[in-house]
Amino acid sequence: MVKKERLVNSFCRLAKIKSPSGQEEDMAVEVVKELTRLGLKVTRDSYGNVVAKMDGVGQPVILCGHLDTVPVGQDKEIVPIVENGIVRSDGKTILGADNKDFIAAIIEAISVISEDSLPHQPLEIVLTREEEQIARGAVNLDTSLLEGKECLIADNAAPLGEITLSAPYTDKFEVTVRGKEAHVKNPEAGIDAIRAAASLISRMPLGRVNDVTTANVSFISGGLAGIIEKTEFAELSKQPSNSVPNIVKFFGEVRGLEKDLVKETFSEINKLCRLVEKETGVTVDFVMKKLNDGYMHEEKDPFLKKIASIFLQQGRQPRFEPTIGGSDANVLNKYGIKSVVISSGEKNNHTCNEQIAVEDLVELTDFLIRFVTTL
Ligand SMILES: [Zn+2]
Repeated sequence: MVKKERLVNSFCRLAKIKSPSGQEEDMAVEVVKELTRLGLKVTRDSYGNVVAKMDGVGQPVILCGHLDTVPVGQDKEIVPIVENGIVRSDGKTILGADNKDFIAAIIEAISVISEDSLPHQPLEIVLTREEEQIARGAVNLDTSLLEGKECLIADNAAPLGEITLSAPYTDKFEVTVRGKEAHVKNPEAGIDAIRAAASLISRMPLGRVNDVTTANVSFISGGLAGIIEKTEFAELSKQPSNSVPNIVKFFGEVRGLEKDLVKETFSEINKLCRLVEKETGVTVDFVMKKLNDGYMHEEKDPFLKKIASIFLQQGRQPRFEPTIGGSDANVLNKYGIKSVVISSGEKNNHTCNEQIAVEDLVELTDFLIRFVTTL
Protein backbone atom coordinates (compact mmCIF):
# COMPACT_ATOMS: atom_id res chain seq x y z
CA MET A 1 0.00 0.00 0.00
CA VAL A 2 1.18 3.49 -0.88
CA LYS A 3 1.85 5.48 2.29
CA LYS A 4 0.53 8.89 1.38
CA GLU A 5 2.22 10.87 4.13
CA ARG A 6 5.61 9.27 3.53
CA LEU A 7 5.25 9.93 -0.23
CA VAL A 8 4.33 13.61 0.22
CA ASN A 9 7.14 14.15 2.75
CA SER A 10 9.63 12.50 0.43
CA PHE A 11 8.41 14.60 -2.52
CA CYS A 12 8.65 17.84 -0.51
CA ARG A 13 12.14 16.94 0.69
CA LEU A 14 13.30 16.43 -2.91
CA ALA A 15 11.46 19.54 -4.14
CA LYS A 16 13.36 21.70 -1.61
CA ILE A 17 16.74 20.67 -3.05
CA LYS A 18 17.59 23.20 -5.73
CA SER A 19 18.82 21.46 -8.87
CA PRO A 20 18.81 23.72 -11.92
CA SER A 21 20.38 22.09 -14.98
CA GLY A 22 24.12 21.68 -14.49
CA GLN A 23 23.84 21.94 -10.69
CA GLU A 24 22.17 18.65 -9.85
CA GLU A 25 24.82 17.32 -7.47
CA ASP A 26 22.93 17.86 -4.16
CA MET A 27 19.89 16.20 -5.67
CA ALA A 28 21.95 13.31 -7.06
CA VAL A 29 23.63 12.72 -3.68
CA GLU A 30 20.26 12.65 -1.88
CA VAL A 31 18.69 10.25 -4.38
CA VAL A 32 21.74 7.95 -4.35
CA LYS A 33 21.47 7.85 -0.54
CA GLU A 34 17.74 6.98 -0.69
CA LEU A 35 18.09 4.28 -3.35
CA THR A 36 21.09 2.74 -1.55
CA ARG A 37 19.10 2.70 1.71
CA LEU A 38 16.36 0.80 -0.15
CA GLY A 39 18.89 -1.86 -1.12
CA LEU A 40 19.49 -0.99 -4.78
CA LYS A 41 22.89 -1.21 -6.45
CA VAL A 42 23.57 2.41 -7.35
CA THR A 43 26.23 3.78 -9.71
CA ARG A 44 26.95 7.07 -11.45
CA ASP A 45 28.16 7.15 -15.03
CA SER A 46 31.04 9.42 -16.02
CA TYR A 47 28.59 12.25 -16.81
CA GLY A 48 27.03 12.06 -13.34
CA ASN A 49 23.74 10.41 -14.33
CA VAL A 50 22.44 8.02 -11.65
CA VAL A 51 21.80 4.36 -12.55
CA ALA A 52 20.32 2.05 -9.90
CA LYS A 53 19.29 -1.58 -10.20
CA MET A 54 16.93 -3.88 -8.35
CA ASP A 55 16.73 -7.60 -9.09
CA GLY A 56 13.41 -9.09 -10.10
CA VAL A 57 11.60 -11.57 -12.32
CA GLY A 58 11.48 -11.54 -16.13
CA GLN A 59 12.61 -8.80 -18.50
CA PRO A 60 14.15 -5.69 -16.95
CA VAL A 61 12.33 -2.38 -17.38
CA ILE A 62 13.92 1.04 -17.21
CA LEU A 63 12.26 3.86 -15.26
CA CYS A 64 13.76 7.19 -16.29
CA GLY A 65 13.36 10.55 -14.58
CA HIS A 66 15.47 13.70 -14.57
CA LEU A 67 17.30 15.29 -11.64
CA ASP A 68 17.38 18.84 -12.97
CA THR A 69 14.78 21.59 -13.10
CA VAL A 70 14.42 24.85 -15.00
CA PRO A 71 16.05 27.77 -13.13
CA VAL A 72 12.84 29.78 -12.44
CA GLY A 73 13.22 31.50 -9.05
CA GLN A 74 16.50 29.78 -8.23
CA ASP A 75 17.85 32.77 -6.27
CA LYS A 76 15.22 31.98 -3.61
CA GLU A 77 14.53 28.96 -1.41
CA ILE A 78 11.92 26.52 -2.70
CA VAL A 79 9.16 26.25 -0.11
CA PRO A 80 6.68 23.46 -0.89
CA ILE A 81 3.25 24.09 0.65
CA VAL A 82 0.68 21.31 1.07
CA GLU A 83 -2.80 22.80 1.26
CA ASN A 84 -6.26 21.47 0.39
CA GLY A 85 -4.79 18.36 -1.21
CA ILE A 86 -2.44 20.33 -3.50
CA VAL A 87 1.33 20.72 -3.27
CA ARG A 88 2.56 24.05 -4.62
CA SER A 89 5.46 26.45 -4.10
CA ASP A 90 5.06 29.75 -2.24
CA GLY A 91 4.65 31.42 -5.65
CA LYS A 92 8.21 32.77 -5.82
CA THR A 93 9.84 29.72 -7.40
CA ILE A 94 8.98 26.62 -9.35
CA LEU A 95 7.91 23.62 -7.30
CA GLY A 96 10.12 21.20 -9.24
CA ALA A 97 7.39 18.58 -9.58
CA ASP A 98 8.87 18.36 -13.09
CA ASN A 99 10.38 15.79 -12.54
CA LYS A 100 10.63 15.20 -8.78
CA ASP A 101 7.07 13.89 -8.74
CA PHE A 102 8.23 10.84 -10.69
CA ILE A 103 11.41 10.41 -8.63
CA ALA A 104 9.34 10.48 -5.41
CA ALA A 105 6.89 8.01 -6.98
CA ILE A 106 9.77 5.66 -7.90
CA ILE A 107 11.18 5.78 -4.35
CA GLU A 108 7.76 5.14 -2.80
CA ALA A 109 6.97 2.33 -5.28
CA ILE A 110 10.25 0.59 -4.40
CA SER A 111 9.50 0.97 -0.68
CA VAL A 112 6.04 -0.59 -1.13
CA ILE A 113 7.30 -3.44 -3.32
CA SER A 114 9.92 -4.32 -0.69
CA GLU A 115 7.59 -4.00 2.32
CA ASP A 116 4.83 -6.06 0.73
CA SER A 117 7.28 -8.53 -0.94
CA LEU A 118 5.58 -8.04 -4.31
CA PRO A 119 7.11 -9.99 -7.23
CA HIS A 120 8.22 -7.48 -9.84
CA GLN A 121 10.32 -7.03 -12.98
CA PRO A 122 14.03 -6.27 -12.58
CA LEU A 123 14.21 -2.49 -12.33
CA GLU A 124 16.78 -0.17 -13.83
CA ILE A 125 16.31 3.35 -12.51
CA VAL A 126 17.93 6.05 -14.65
CA LEU A 127 18.00 9.62 -13.31
CA THR A 128 19.52 12.01 -15.80
CA ARG A 129 21.16 15.40 -15.51
CA GLU A 130 20.36 18.35 -17.79
CA GLU A 131 17.15 17.06 -19.34
CA GLU A 132 15.96 20.65 -19.59
CA GLN A 133 19.05 21.42 -21.71
CA ILE A 134 18.00 19.46 -24.79
CA ALA A 135 18.46 16.21 -22.81
CA ARG A 136 22.23 16.57 -22.55
CA GLY A 137 22.41 14.06 -19.68
CA ALA A 138 20.62 11.41 -21.72
CA VAL A 139 22.84 12.15 -24.72
CA ASN A 140 25.87 11.39 -22.51
CA LEU A 141 24.27 8.45 -20.68
CA ASP A 142 26.42 5.32 -20.51
CA THR A 143 23.86 2.90 -21.95
CA SER A 144 26.30 -0.01 -21.54
CA LEU A 145 25.19 0.02 -17.87
CA LEU A 146 21.67 -0.96 -18.96
CA GLU A 147 20.13 -4.26 -20.04
CA GLY A 148 16.52 -3.12 -20.41
CA LYS A 149 15.14 -2.41 -23.86
CA GLU A 150 11.95 -0.72 -22.70
CA CYS A 151 11.71 2.47 -20.67
CA LEU A 152 8.90 4.31 -18.93
CA ILE A 153 9.20 8.06 -18.35
CA ALA A 154 6.58 10.11 -16.48
CA ASP A 155 7.51 13.60 -17.62
CA ASN A 156 4.53 15.37 -19.13
CA ALA A 157 2.50 18.01 -17.32
CA ALA A 158 -0.98 16.73 -18.19
CA PRO A 159 -3.79 14.93 -16.37
CA LEU A 160 -2.98 11.27 -15.60
CA GLY A 161 -3.71 8.77 -18.35
CA GLU A 162 -1.91 10.42 -21.26
CA ILE A 163 0.52 8.30 -23.30
CA THR A 164 2.81 10.18 -25.68
CA LEU A 165 2.74 8.55 -29.08
CA SER A 166 5.21 10.67 -30.96
CA ALA A 167 7.59 13.60 -30.72
CA PRO A 168 8.88 15.67 -33.62
CA TYR A 169 12.30 15.80 -35.21
CA THR A 170 13.41 19.38 -34.65
CA ASP A 171 16.24 21.14 -36.45
CA LYS A 172 17.22 24.78 -36.31
CA PHE A 173 18.52 26.86 -39.19
CA GLU A 174 20.64 29.99 -39.18
CA VAL A 175 20.82 32.04 -42.37
CA THR A 176 23.21 34.90 -43.11
CA VAL A 177 22.58 36.94 -46.25
CA ARG A 178 25.47 39.16 -47.33
CA GLY A 179 25.10 41.94 -49.91
CA LYS A 180 27.09 45.07 -50.67
CA GLU A 181 26.91 48.40 -48.88
CA ALA A 182 26.26 51.56 -50.94
CA HIS A 183 24.82 55.03 -50.48
CA VAL A 184 21.10 55.08 -51.16
CA LYS A 185 21.71 57.85 -53.78
CA ASN A 186 23.53 55.24 -55.81
CA PRO A 187 21.58 51.98 -55.32
CA GLU A 188 23.05 50.38 -58.45
CA ALA A 189 26.42 50.20 -56.66
CA GLY A 190 25.01 48.09 -53.82
CA ILE A 191 23.44 44.68 -53.33
CA ASP A 192 20.45 44.98 -50.97
CA ALA A 193 20.67 42.18 -48.40
CA ILE A 194 17.31 43.01 -46.76
CA ARG A 195 15.45 42.93 -50.05
CA ALA A 196 17.09 39.62 -50.96
CA ALA A 197 16.29 38.14 -47.53
CA ALA A 198 12.67 39.30 -47.88
CA SER A 199 12.46 37.63 -51.26
CA LEU A 200 13.92 34.45 -49.80
CA ILE A 201 11.67 34.36 -46.72
CA SER A 202 8.54 35.16 -48.72
CA ARG A 203 9.12 32.01 -50.78
CA MET A 204 10.21 29.69 -47.98
CA PRO A 205 7.92 26.86 -46.89
CA LEU A 206 6.72 28.26 -43.54
CA GLY A 207 3.81 27.68 -41.20
CA ARG A 208 2.11 24.32 -41.70
CA VAL A 209 4.28 22.90 -44.46
CA ASN A 210 2.29 19.66 -44.60
CA ASP A 211 0.21 17.49 -42.25
CA VAL A 212 3.21 16.50 -40.13
CA THR A 213 5.70 19.34 -40.63
CA THR A 214 5.85 22.96 -39.47
CA ALA A 215 8.50 25.63 -40.01
CA ASN A 216 9.07 29.20 -38.88
CA VAL A 217 11.46 32.11 -38.96
CA SER A 218 11.70 33.20 -35.33
CA PHE A 219 14.22 36.11 -35.36
CA ILE A 220 15.54 38.46 -37.95
CA SER A 221 18.04 41.27 -37.83
CA GLY A 222 19.59 43.24 -40.66
CA GLY A 223 21.14 46.47 -41.85
CA LEU A 224 24.78 47.46 -42.00
CA ALA A 225 27.51 45.12 -40.84
CA GLY A 226 29.40 46.64 -37.91
CA ILE A 227 26.28 48.44 -36.70
CA ILE A 228 23.65 45.75 -36.21
CA GLU A 229 26.07 43.55 -34.28
CA LYS A 230 26.88 46.36 -31.84
CA THR A 231 23.52 48.09 -31.45
CA GLU A 232 20.49 47.12 -29.39
CA PHE A 233 17.45 46.63 -31.62
CA ALA A 234 15.58 49.47 -29.89
CA GLU A 235 18.46 51.83 -30.64
CA LEU A 236 18.61 51.06 -34.37
CA SER A 237 15.96 53.63 -35.29
CA LYS A 238 18.46 56.34 -34.33
CA GLN A 239 20.89 55.15 -37.01
CA PRO A 240 21.03 56.97 -40.39
CA SER A 241 18.71 55.39 -42.95
CA ASN A 242 20.64 56.38 -46.06
CA SER A 243 22.34 53.14 -47.03
CA VAL A 244 21.78 49.99 -49.04
CA PRO A 245 22.05 47.33 -46.28
CA ASN A 246 24.66 44.62 -46.60
CA ILE A 247 23.75 42.00 -44.01
CA VAL A 248 20.74 40.09 -42.70
CA LYS A 249 20.69 37.23 -40.24
CA PHE A 250 17.65 35.17 -39.42
CA PHE A 251 16.91 32.05 -37.44
CA GLY A 252 14.14 29.52 -37.40
CA GLU A 253 13.33 25.87 -37.11
CA VAL A 254 11.67 23.01 -38.90
CA ARG A 255 9.92 20.32 -36.88
CA GLY A 256 8.03 17.30 -38.04
CA LEU A 257 7.06 13.76 -37.21
CA GLU A 258 8.69 12.30 -40.30
CA LYS A 259 12.41 12.66 -40.60
CA ASP A 260 12.41 12.54 -44.41
CA LEU A 261 9.87 15.35 -44.70
CA VAL A 262 11.91 17.53 -42.32
CA LYS A 263 14.95 16.84 -44.48
CA GLU A 264 12.98 17.67 -47.63
CA THR A 265 11.88 21.01 -46.14
CA PHE A 266 15.51 21.84 -45.35
CA SER A 267 16.66 20.98 -48.82
CA GLU A 268 13.89 23.14 -50.30
CA ILE A 269 15.05 26.10 -48.16
CA ASN A 270 18.63 25.46 -49.20
CA LYS A 271 17.65 25.44 -52.89
CA LEU A 272 15.83 28.77 -52.44
CA CYS A 273 18.99 30.22 -50.85
CA ARG A 274 20.97 29.27 -53.97
CA LEU A 275 18.25 30.68 -56.25
CA VAL A 276 18.18 34.03 -54.42
CA GLU A 277 21.99 34.17 -54.66
CA LYS A 278 21.68 33.85 -58.43
CA GLU A 279 18.82 36.33 -58.75
CA THR A 280 20.26 39.10 -56.57
CA GLY A 281 24.02 38.65 -56.26
CA VAL A 282 24.01 38.19 -52.46
CA THR A 283 25.79 35.29 -50.80
CA VAL A 284 23.73 33.15 -48.43
CA ASP A 285 25.16 30.96 -45.66
CA PHE A 286 22.67 28.35 -44.59
CA VAL A 287 23.60 26.40 -41.47
CA MET A 288 21.52 23.61 -39.98
CA LYS A 289 21.75 22.54 -36.32
CA LYS A 290 20.12 19.44 -34.94
CA LEU A 291 18.03 20.13 -31.84
CA ASN A 292 16.08 16.92 -31.24
CA ASP A 293 15.53 13.52 -32.78
CA GLY A 294 11.90 12.54 -32.89
CA TYR A 295 10.09 9.24 -32.62
CA MET A 296 6.78 7.62 -33.39
CA HIS A 297 5.23 4.67 -31.50
CA GLU A 298 2.21 2.59 -32.41
CA GLU A 299 -0.78 2.15 -30.13
CA LYS A 300 -0.73 -1.57 -30.82
CA ASP A 301 2.86 -1.96 -29.65
CA PRO A 302 2.84 -4.46 -26.71
CA PHE A 303 4.70 -2.04 -24.40
CA LEU A 304 2.18 0.75 -25.04
CA LYS A 305 -0.67 -1.71 -24.71
CA LYS A 306 0.62 -2.75 -21.29
CA ILE A 307 0.80 0.91 -20.18
CA ALA A 308 -2.75 1.51 -21.42
CA SER A 309 -4.01 -1.62 -19.65
CA ILE A 310 -2.63 -0.40 -16.30
CA PHE A 311 -4.47 2.91 -16.70
CA LEU A 312 -7.64 0.90 -17.40
CA GLN A 313 -6.99 -1.19 -14.25
CA GLN A 314 -6.91 2.11 -12.34
CA GLY A 315 -10.29 2.99 -13.85
CA ARG A 316 -8.83 5.64 -16.12
CA GLN A 317 -9.30 5.88 -19.89
CA PRO A 318 -5.87 6.06 -21.55
CA ARG A 319 -5.35 8.86 -24.08
CA PHE A 320 -2.77 8.56 -26.85
CA GLU A 321 -1.42 11.97 -27.86
CA PRO A 322 1.45 13.38 -29.93
CA THR A 323 3.71 15.94 -28.27
CA ILE A 324 5.52 18.95 -29.66
CA GLY A 325 8.18 19.00 -26.96
CA GLY A 326 11.39 17.06 -26.42
CA SER A 327 12.41 14.85 -23.49
CA ASP A 328 14.89 12.12 -22.58
CA ALA A 329 12.65 9.80 -24.64
CA ASN A 330 13.83 11.43 -27.88
CA VAL A 331 17.41 10.44 -27.11
CA LEU A 332 16.74 7.00 -25.61
CA ASN A 333 14.53 5.99 -28.53
CA LYS A 334 17.36 6.94 -30.87
CA TYR A 335 19.69 4.75 -28.74
CA GLY A 336 17.40 1.77 -29.40
CA ILE A 337 15.61 1.79 -26.03
CA LYS A 338 11.85 1.92 -26.59
CA SER A 339 10.93 4.86 -24.37
CA VAL A 340 7.41 5.99 -23.68
CA VAL A 341 6.39 9.16 -21.87
CA ILE A 342 3.27 9.28 -19.73
CA SER A 343 1.72 12.24 -17.92
CA SER A 344 2.45 12.77 -14.24
CA GLY A 345 -0.62 14.78 -13.30
CA GLU A 346 1.26 17.96 -12.46
CA LYS A 347 0.23 21.39 -13.75
CA ASN A 348 1.96 24.60 -14.90
CA ASN A 349 5.50 23.22 -14.99
CA HIS A 350 8.34 25.70 -15.57
CA THR A 351 6.35 28.43 -13.77
CA CYS A 352 5.99 29.73 -10.20
CA ASN A 353 2.45 28.38 -10.29
CA GLU A 354 3.59 24.77 -10.66
CA GLN A 355 1.57 22.30 -8.61
CA ILE A 356 0.52 18.69 -8.18
CA ALA A 357 -2.45 17.18 -6.36
CA VAL A 358 -1.53 14.78 -3.55
CA GLU A 359 -4.06 12.34 -4.98
CA ASP A 360 -2.31 12.42 -8.38
CA LEU A 361 1.05 11.76 -6.73
CA VAL A 362 -0.53 8.73 -5.01
CA GLU A 363 -2.14 7.55 -8.26
CA LEU A 364 1.13 7.93 -10.18
CA THR A 365 2.86 5.76 -7.57
CA ASP A 366 0.00 3.25 -7.67
CA PHE A 367 0.37 3.13 -11.47
CA LEU A 368 4.07 2.43 -11.13
CA ILE A 369 3.56 -0.38 -8.60
CA ARG A 370 0.93 -2.04 -10.79
CA PHE A 371 3.11 -1.56 -13.86
CA VAL A 372 6.26 -3.25 -12.54
CA THR A 373 4.36 -6.01 -10.71
CA THR A 374 2.30 -7.01 -13.77
CA LEU A 375 4.53 -9.81 -15.04
ZN1 LIG B 1 10.57 17.33 -17.24
